[in-house]
Amino acid sequence: MRVKVLGSAAGGGFPQWNCGCANCSRFRSGVLKGEGRTQAQVAVSPSKATWLLLNASPDLRQQLLEDSEFAPTQGKRSTPISAVILTSADVDCVLGLLHLREFQPLHIYSTASVRRLLTEENTLFRTLERSDPPVCWQVLPFGQPIPVFQQASSGAEPSLFCKAVPLGGNFPDYVSDRLLRTLPEEEAVIGLELEQGGKRLFYAPSLPGRGEDWKRYTKGSDLALLDGTFWTDDEFIRVLGSGKTATQMGHLPLSGSSGLLEKLRGVRDVRRVLIHLNNTNPALDQESDASGALREAGWEVAYDGMEVQL
Ligand SMILES: [Zn+2]
Repeated sequence: MRVKVLGSAAGGGFPQWNCGCANCSRFRSGVLKGEGRTQAQVAVSPSKATWLLLNASPDLRQQLLEDSEFAPTQGKRSTPISAVILTSADVDCVLGLLHLREFQPLHIYSTASVRRLLTEENTLFRTLERSDPPVCWQVLPFGQPIPVFQQASSGAEPSLFCKAVPLGGNFPDYVSDRLLRTLPEEEAVIGLELEQGGKRLFYAPSLPGRGEDWKRYTKGSDLALLDGTFWTDDEFIRVLGSGKTATQMGHLPLSGSSGLLEKLRGVRDVRRVLIHLNNTNPALDQESDASGALREAGWEVAYDGMEVQL
């Protein structure tokens, strides 16, 4: 399978339009050595001219327009994108679905709770139902891989399988208390194991770091694209003067004795790539100590346009 990173930043992108933190300011004035980034978006291609989106970022329209592989066939309404797989109902993961609303039939895979949140509580997403056939929602079960839909016209046997991995974590703040009471917690945030021909991608752009499952799936993968939101637990509070810690927001920080790097120390034979970097993260500056520490530990940082063949 081919894996493309169309966007590598957390919500807000880098730089963020209303942020004057050291990173964003230094980027604007041209002194930070690093790349600008759109909001996290990954696409996976199991076969020629077929793509699956992992989440649907707020920057999706721009991301698709900038890559000719996502262009429609000349002379007709079409798309090589056959499906979207959602890891949570966070705004940053689902807003792009509205960019896909132009009467385009699609399959959307998610937990049952995420589907309920988007279809019962956010009526705006009903615009997706206007396509013919309407968008088809499919529930991702836990514990068993399911074949992922490919182009309906190809007639090919599905060769790509997706397994949902519960990661802990919380439902988004916008969910009403009434609905929240009825939703199983393990359906809030999931990781995805995508397997084709014995090659495995593990995708977890939000990783609360609870339990041991995520470590097992990371170690069993050829490529792990993992949560690189924050370098330190109090990063957001230090920059903004208030707010929540990384842990409270459902992100395992990268540094520290209980951070992601430490938890995966010794895992060297898996290609480990960070994605979903918040604009406050010092790892966005290639000359920072944080970037040096990542290189030393064998980690890579995803960038917009990165491509991996598995
Ligand atoms: Zn900033």
